[in-house]
Amino acid sequence: MSRQINVALIGNPNTGKTSVFNALTGLKQTVSNYPGTTVDKKEGVCRLPRGLKAHIIDLPGTYSLNASSLDENVVVELLLNKNDRNYPDVAVLVTDVENLKRNLLLFTQIKDLKIPTVLVINMADRMKRRGITLDIQHLEKRLKTRIALTSTRKNEGIAELKAIINNYKSLSTEPCLDSSVIDPVYFENLANAFPNQELYKLWLVISQDVNFGRIARKALNVEKFKTKSTSELKRLQQKETIKRYQFINDVLKVGQTIDTSKATDLRSRLDRILTHKVWGYVIFFFILLTIFQAIYDWATVPMDFIDGAFASLSHWLKDVLPSGIATNLLAEGIVPGLGGIVIFIPQIAFLFLFISVLEESGYMSRVVFLMDRIMRRFGLSGKSVVPLISGTACAIPAVMATRNIENWKERLITILVVPFTTCSARLPVYLIIIAIVIPEGRFIWLSYQALALMFLYMLGFASAIVSALILDKILKIKRKSYFVIEMPNYKVPLLRNVLITVVEKTKAFVFGAGKIILAISIILFVLASTGVGKQFNEAESIIRSEVAGQGLTEEDINTRIASHKLEHSIIGVTGKAIEPVIEPLGYDWKIGIAIICSFAAREVFVGTLATIYSVGQDDEDTIKNRMKKEINPVSGVPLFNFASGISLLLFYAFAMQCMSTLAIVKRETNSWKWPLVQLVVMTALAYVVALFVYQILN
Ligand code: GDP
Ligand code: MG
Repeated sequence: MSRQINVALIGNPNTGKTSVFNALTGLKQTVSNYPGTTVDKKEGVCRLPRGLKAHIIDLPGTYSLNASSLDENVVVELLLNKNDRNYPDVAVLVTDVENLKRNLLLFTQIKDLKIPTVLVINMADRMKRRGITLDIQHLEKRLKTRIALTSTRKNEGIAELKAIINNYKSLSTEPCLDSSVIDPVYFENLANAFPNQELYKLWLVISQDVNFGRIARKALNVEKFKTKSTSELKRLQQKETIKRYQFINDVLKVGQTIDTSKATDLRSRLDRILTHKVWGYVIFFFILLTIFQAIYDWATVPMDFIDGAFASLSHWLKDVLPSGIATNLLAEGIVPGLGGIVIFIPQIAFLFLFISVLEESGYMSRVVFLMDRIMRRFGLSGKSVVPLISGTACAIPAVMATRNIENWKERLITILVVPFTTCSARLPVYLIIIAIVIPEGRFIWLSYQALALMFLYMLGFASAIVSALILDKILKIKRKSYFVIEMPNYKVPLLRNVLITVVEKTKAFVFGAGKIILAISIILFVLASTGVGKQFNEAESIIRSEVAGQGLTEEDINTRIASHKLEHSIIGVTGKAIEPVIEPLGYDWKIGIAIICSFAAREVFVGTLATIYSVGQDDEDTIKNRMKKEINPVSGVPLFNFASGISLLLFYAFAMQCMSTLAIVKRETNSWKWPLVQLVVMTALAYVVALFVYQILN
């Protein structure tokens, strides 16, 4: 008569559980689902010496016993329920030698449940290359367990593991550390109320998220003992995690040595350089510099082509179509509006090409790691780097990407500061203004214009970080979190993945932003070509009598009439109304209109100006040249000069001009308070900075 025991394979995802499972069971396995779920349940049989038969379950990957997903709940439900027919006689905790510290958190929790536990340290074949050595004896003593050092790839250590399982009766069931120290009084009360239960199990049942661990909760009926609020429980859980990591750090200090200078694999050598305290930042900086330079050098040709093509198209349409309101709408409203979108495709595509290559290659995770050192000091987490970098695409996905940040305070701060990073919508504004006001020379191989753009991106990040620091001081929310990063291996980016990202992001820009830009272009055209009152309706006769006898050409007169009409159109009147407010910043009412319109979305700025300047213009010219020709009516100097250009750039760098971002922040923070704070503070800051800079430069 053979005896059978249950063995559960438990561990973080990707530690090699399934590989160990295969090594133990061979082909004797079955796959089904856990009742009521779609989670895979793999079972198998392993024959051990002395007639012992091990029934082995490969449990879903889990990071801790505080379930946060259905997969993890399967593990928690099983381990909390001694009556389950699969309740393990032995837990085999599989860890990855390269991530031992993170993996051991779960181990210490399982030990607290007093289940006989074996520790498998897998992927031993990678130790030498990573410069890792282990003191197994020390680890066994401190962790109160037996250790099997395995490599399923080389089929090593499996026999030892079988032998340990076979001797499961001699495994210690003593916990590694006393978790009740996190709140001794509470734990003592618990122990008194349920004298027959494992203390740690009670704690797990009580502190589990309401959606998980239901079976055990029902069985134990702890509800009436739930004297602590959810936030108190969360705080205690964090305290517990910290205690555990302190213990693990302490054990690994002696038990594990990682001599990265001895590591020989390419990955370690690359890591050593790319995350170096000095070189890491220097390299990151040069990569950024190269990207911005490339955006400029490579995109100029297609951009000039597009710019010219749309100008010709407008002109051509006017020639071939019968003159009238519909033709004007098409040639002066829709086509320039479309041109204002299409022209940015080359630069946006190049930017995302680089970002996705960095992500795909694995380099971005090194940046996250590198930046964590700095981010911590500013109340952010290393994980905030991803939203901040995604923010260069669009604040909306970036705000959504903050969901990875576990700690609420760090998450809120990240959400609040993300709109400072330079999103692709600001890019068009920057590009056109830089092209007009920054000279074309080069400093060594870097053009001034590329440097200016890079400066604006840096300014975005810097403002985000400084505001984070201020928010960290102001917000009265407690913060304590552990940051564990997954470092993927380096790989040559898959061309397909990169191209998909580029196409997707570009499409999102064209169809997301494009729709708004086009709609606003049309509205603007209508508002700019309708007006009320004598000045608008009789513009022609007013101007003609004004210039009579001055010997102007017919073309000049037409231009005068058009601009007189524009000035007295609905939009001109509105722009003028806000002129007193923006005049100290160096702007005129036309820029005022563009600013008002860009509160819907920033990228509308260029399209708006394009539309405004195209109205009534017959000559074939690019938007850029038209903007260059504008004269400030007050001072008589070019409207877009160095002082007003820089002032505008800075205004756009700081102002919160995006209704969609405000909407998403409202959704993610579940209150109007935070989006309103963003709107008011950022816009006020933008105004003050632009005012200050213009007054100094002028
Ligand atoms: P699970 O998610 O824990 O079930 O892990 P898997 O068994 O699916 O393994 C995850 C990855 O690690 C796979 O790519 C395996 O090939 C790899 N792997 C598993 N064991 C070893 C090992 O001993 N050495 C090495 N180098 N890789 C391993
Ligand atoms: Mg698996």
